[in-house]
Amino acid sequence: MTQELISIVLPVYNEHEILPTTIQTLENFVAAQSQTYELIFVDDGSSDYSATIIAHARESFKNIKLVQFSRNFGHQIAITAGIRYASGAAIVVMDADLQDPPEVINAMIEQWHQGYQVVYGKRVQRDGETWFKKTSARLFYRLLARITAVPIPTDTGDFRLIDRQVAEVLKKINEDDPYVRGLISWVGFRQTAVNYERHERLAGQSKYPLRKMMKLALDGITSFSELPLKLATWLGGGLLAIGLLVGLINLVTLDLGGTALIAFLLVSLSGLLLLAIGILGAYLARIFAASRQRPLYIVANTEGFHHPQTSRSMFQNSAEHNNLTSSINLVKRKKLGQ
Ligand code: UDP
Ligand code: MG
Repeated sequence: MTQELISIVLPVYNEHEILPTTIQTLENFVAAQSQTYELIFVDDGSSDYSATIIAHARESFKNIKLVQFSRNFGHQIAITAGIRYASGAAIVVMDADLQDPPEVINAMIEQWHQGYQVVYGKRVQRDGETWFKKTSARLFYRLLARITAVPIPTDTGDFRLIDRQVAEVLKKINEDDPYVRGLISWVGFRQTAVNYERHERLAGQSKYPLRKMMKLALDGITSFSELPLKLATWLGGGLLAIGLLVGLINLVTLDLGGTALIAFLLVSLSGLLLLAIGILGAYLARIFAASRQRPLYIVANTEGFHHPQTSRSMFQNSAEHNNLTSSINLVKRKKLGQ
C-alpha cells in the first residue's frame, strides 16, 4: 500500500512566474506523504521559459517529468496528454497556479482507498475571481446539467483524482476538442466529491481569456447535448404556427398589416434562421474535426520517461503506426518505380 505510485498531472501555459513556487510547494507536500509521486508537467506550448524551469527542476527532483507540446493546443488537450503519459495507480489532475490546494489530494486519496474511482474537487468557494467569471460559471454548469443526459457535477473544474482503470478507458477516447470533466463523468464507475475552497492565483494572470472560456463552454455543450440541434426545429415549428395564424387573421380580416410589422418579422426571422444555422455549424465543425483524424496534439520533447512516448500522441496504437509506415514505404517504392 505504501509504495503505490500517484501521478500528478499539471497543464502549464506561460506560468514562469509561479512555477518555482508550484514545484517547491508540491515537492514539500510529496515529501511528507507515504506514497511515491511523479509530477508530470505538460507544457502547452508556452512562449516564456516555463519548460526550462521544469527541465532545470529535474536536476533537484527526480520525480519531475516533462511533456512539451510543439505549440499551444489548449488546457483540455494538455490534461488528456498528461493522463496518457501518467503511470500511477491513481492520477490527480490539477492546475499549475496552485489554485487547487495540494492538501486536498490527501482527502481524494482517502476516498480512493474507500473504493471510489473518480474523486472530483467541488468548489464551495472561489477566492479572487471576478464576479463575471463566478456568475457565468455558475449559470453555465447549471445550464449544462439541465440539457445533458450525463450527470456532470456542478461547480467542479478539472481538479480530480482518477483511478488507473478510469485512465485506461479515457486513453481509448480520442475525441477532438475533448471536454475532459464531462468525459470523466460519462465513463461512470464509482464517483464521489470532496469539497474545497479554491484559492486566488498566487502569481501571473489567468490563461483563460473570454475566448477560451467560450470555447470550453461550447465544447461542453456540443459534446454532451443534442438539445440545441433540436431547439431549431422547435423554434421553427413554433414560428410556423404563428406565421400561419397571422396569415389566417390577415385573410379573414383582409387587413394586410403595416410595413413595420413586415420589417420586424423579416429581421427577427432571419436572425433566428442564422442562429439555427450557427448551431448546426457548431456541431458540423465537430464532425469535420473528427473526420480529419489529425492527432490531438504533437509532442516536441519529453524528459524523464524511460520509454520515449512521442509516437503515442501521433498514433493511437502500433497497428496504426505500422499501417502508416507501410503506406509511406509504398509511396516511396512507387516513387522509385518499383
Ligand atoms: N493552461 C494550459 N493551456 C492553455 C490555458 C491554460 O495548459 O491554453 C493551463 C494553465 O497554465 C493552468 C491551467 O491550465 O495551469 C488553468 O488555467 P488558468 O489558471 O489560467 O485558468 P483559470 O483558473 O483562470 O480558469
Ligand atoms: Mg487558475
